Amino acid sequence: MNKLKEPNKVHEFDIPITMDDNTKKSFKGYRVQFNNARGPYKGGIRFHPQVDLDEVKALAFWMVIKTAVVGVPLGGGKGGVEVNPKELKETELEKISRGWVAEMADHIGPRVDVPAPDINTNPQTMEWMLDEYEKITNDTTRATFTGKPIESGGSEGREQATGQGGFYALEEIAQKLDLKPESSSIIVQGLGNVGYNFAVLAHNAGYKIVGMSDSKGAIYNAGGFDPEEIQKIKKEKGSVVDFEGVIKLTNEELLEQECDILAPAALENQLTSANAAKVKASVVLELANGPTTPKADKILWDKKIYVVPDVLANAGGVTVSYFEWDQNLKNQHWTEQEVLSKLEPIMKKAFQDIWKAHVDHNMDLRTSAFMLAVKRIISAMK
Ligand code: NAD
Repeated sequence: MNKLKEPNKVHEFDIPITMDDNTKKSFKGYRVQFNNARGPYKGGIRFHPQVDLDEVKALAFWMVIKTAVVGVPLGGGKGGVEVNPKELKETELEKISRGWVAEMADHIGPRVDVPAPDINTNPQTMEWMLDEYEKITNDTTRATFTGKPIESGGSEGREQATGQGGFYALEEIAQKLDLKPESSSIIVQGLGNVGYNFAVLAHNAGYKIVGMSDSKGAIYNAGGFDPEEIQKIKKEKGSVVDFEGVIKLTNEELLEQECDILAPAALENQLTSANAAKVKASVVLELANGPTTPKADKILWDKKIYVVPDVLANAGGVTVSYFEWDQNLKNQHWTEQEVLSKLEPIMKKAFQDIWKAHVDHNMDLRTSAFMLAVKRIISAMK
């Protein structure tokens, strides 16, 4: 157990680059390889001005838990660069991406450590990184990075994977609590990759999406929204709040509105000791990472509100990353249908395992998920 408290390896290094104006600059790079008892280290690389070692370590541990919760044969790691990508040119970001790989090439690889995109990194970043890695090592499996563009070995279905996985988790909890789609309402905070894909699936399955939001504000309509229509307005005019004829709210107010399922899909620390008691939903489905603080968790559990934890609810993303890695190693390319048909049983089994632990030990779902994951990791370490 003690061996799980600290990462196996920490890499901290400088990435010196020549900027477009010919000045020299150096950026701090990180990779934390937390635990690989269950398989190669797996986790994203974040470009952000606030990246530091403590944050990367915490996120790496989270990945160890997440891969164990869904039972895919991978460990956990995380990386980052302390940089504000909004202040840099694309050519400079490419140099940083290649510089990160030049530093880490001896320590990553298809059977060693498989990074992916995270905040402010994307398929293009992975393409640069893979290209640099191939030049240095001559490896052609393309399995060292996931989240790549399809034509560079990326997987079909990755775009909607996290929302889809969240939807499978919704179907499971709905069955346990006897929530019928036609009489259940959902609020989705955040209309990005995860929130939007989830909202479309839930809407198509018959759930009523009564509230939605983005960084500019929120809208509520007890009669329900069609998320595709809202997304169209957001694209045309800039925000969901530009949708006419419905109630406009702040993001804080949205979380306290009437609904059966509240799905935070934006930022961390949205449900806190200040607002958890005002939540009216019977389920919080954590599509975002870390939207509920520990104090809020306790308040929700005391109110008998089920929190489906992030390590389960948004694990569809890492599961499809695992599929990408697996396809690259086998030199295969699966159809979207194949990918989604493999995702469903993995998500559903993970839910059932956690539910069983919850029933057996009368613990909330997050504690049950952590207990199950730690058991799996320790047994692999032994
Ligand atoms: P995204 O950038 O595509 O979308 C984020 C959305 O949140 C945007 O609609 C943005 O307007 C909105 N937002 C920002 N600030 C807000 C605020 N204060 N209130 C309400 N909405 C706000 O990001 P994403 O990829 O959809 O990720 C969302 C969450 O899911 C993050 O916590 C991320 O870590 C987590 N997650 C994502 C994936 C993935 O595959 N994309 C996988 C696992 C976890």
